[in-house]
Amino acid sequence: MENYIVSARKYRPDTFASVVGQRALTTTLQNAVKNKQLAHAYLFCGPRGVGKTTCARIFAKTINCLHPREDGQACNECESCQAFNTQRSFNIMELDAASNNSVEDIRQLTDQVRIPPALGKYKVYIIDEVHMLSQAAFNAFLKTLEEPPAYAIFILATTEKHKIIPTILSRCQIYDFHRIGVNDIQEHLQYVAQSEGISYEPEALNVIAMKADGGMRDALSIFDQVSSFGEGKVTYKGVIDNLNVLDYDYYFRLVDAFLKHQTTEALLLFNEILNLGFEGLHFINGLASHLRDLMVCKDARTIALLEVSDNIKLKYQQQAQVCDFNYLVWALQVSNECCLQYGQSRNKRLLVELCLIRLCTGNNAPANTAPAAPLNSAPTDRPATTTSAAPQAPHAAHAATSSPVNASAATTTSPAATPRTTANTMPAASPIRNSTPAKEAPKPSSRPKTLSFNNAGAQTKTVETPAEAVQKVEENEAFSEEGLLKHWNEFAHSLKDNPQIMTVMTSNRPVLKTATDFEFVVFQSYTEKSLLELKPSIERYLSEKLHNSHICMHVRISQGEENKKALTPQDQLKSMLDKNPSFVRLCQSLNLEME
Ligand SMILES: [Zn+2]
Repeated sequence: MENYIVSARKYRPDTFASVVGQRALTTTLQNAVKNKQLAHAYLFCGPRGVGKTTCARIFAKTINCLHPREDGQACNECESCQAFNTQRSFNIMELDAASNNSVEDIRQLTDQVRIPPALGKYKVYIIDEVHMLSQAAFNAFLKTLEEPPAYAIFILATTEKHKIIPTILSRCQIYDFHRIGVNDIQEHLQYVAQSEGISYEPEALNVIAMKADGGMRDALSIFDQVSSFGEGKVTYKGVIDNLNVLDYDYYFRLVDAFLKHQTTEALLLFNEILNLGFEGLHFINGLASHLRDLMVCKDARTIALLEVSDNIKLKYQQQAQVCDFNYLVWALQVSNECCLQYGQSRNKRLLVELCLIRLCTGNNAPANTAPAAPLNSAPTDRPATTTSAAPQAPHAAHAATSSPVNASAATTTSPAATPRTTANTMPAASPIRNSTPAKEAPKPSSRPKTLSFNNAGAQTKTVETPAEAVQKVEENEAFSEEGLLKHWNEFAHSLKDNPQIMTVMTSNRPVLKTATDFEFVVFQSYTEKSLLELKPSIERYLSEKLHNSHICMHVRISQGEENKKALTPQDQLKSMLDKNPSFVRLCQSLNLEME
């Protein structure tokens, strides 16, 4: 190839209008030029390759243009513009602080600041990666920045705004550059491909655009790489081979397998993916993104959030049509949990496999079919009331999980085919239920201890069509606050690694607000946060122990004295007495009477 110029340079924008994906920002800059409201120092922040230096150059050219256009753009024809376009202009100086960060480098630059421009009105100094300047260099520069000559304009660029000292920040007009959207990048790649006479598949450009993560420079260099690899053709196959990207198709096939309960198929697909050299976490993250993309397809208003090419979009819409929304939400949660647990898991492959098995067995089968192959046998002959349920240590829960926190993978659904179970459209942890504020059911006084939801479950069943039903074996046993407290404390005591949370959990008691929702009051926001992180594990554990899939925990920070209402004085005393036999003796020895 003769005189090969990389696309990122060849197609570098030279007007504000041609900058891709930073419309708001370029408009502001253009208006500033038009209205002659120029500052002496600008700070351009943002990730790499999103157009910071490019915009700085366009800005320098525009303010030096001898015949600027009405709209604030450069004429691109005058002597100054020509000099800029051919990189001959003396009015622009670039310093890369990543490699020139000494005081001496800055001195050289500030020496030049004294010389006024020969042609045009302004000299523009671009300092790239300005956060890399040494402390001494920063200080030397600060003096110039405080009293610059009228013709000097500084444009500082950085990928790490937080490293810029406040004295510099306060002297600059700050512009935040954002990652460029996938669609914008894809469009630009299309333009480059057409201009270069390179044939391409839209899906291929889409994958490049996603892989570039918002940076146009990266996108263009990947594009160059792939097109030279494919000898002038950019194909989807070429791109995924070159970039080590997992083919979309695997995810479509997996979701098909989930919907048909083909556990074997899903496990084999996963094996195939591992054999291709992909990492489990990469895979499960990709699966979560795929599920998310299917979910946004369910609503016409969110379809715009899908950043894929039109061909693939159609495929997503088709698959989304056969997926139940609630299933997708649930599946997203399951795969997200798997992502979160991945780091700590000893057997990562098994973790992912369990996740896939759950996704296969826990989805929308016709409501009356018994679920296929239970993962583990749930007790079918357990006592009817939970309070009298045989005491069971948390560690002896189901299967081989060491603590309730990690017990998510296998045991949530516990698909025992008892005659009482009903299918329902709502998965155990659907956001709809979670978002229900506690006060929507203001019945704290009447604590329904015997209320059964079996009827409610039956009603739902008649309304839904079998295809929509999520096969999620559901339990609706009523439970008492004492039962709740018992298992709550069990859970708390299983948190041996986290004594702080254990103390928080045991220092107050959960209060039932409805038949299924309970509230736990904490005193500090950080404990609220830690408890909310445990929310899925806690609910899962309690649901399993109390045989009720709808248990929902609400955590609230106490407001002043209000927290005392959560416990009546009698309750408080009782709980203290329960916990500390020595306190009982103390009361007796002091002759204290209980009110
Ligand atoms: Zn000009």
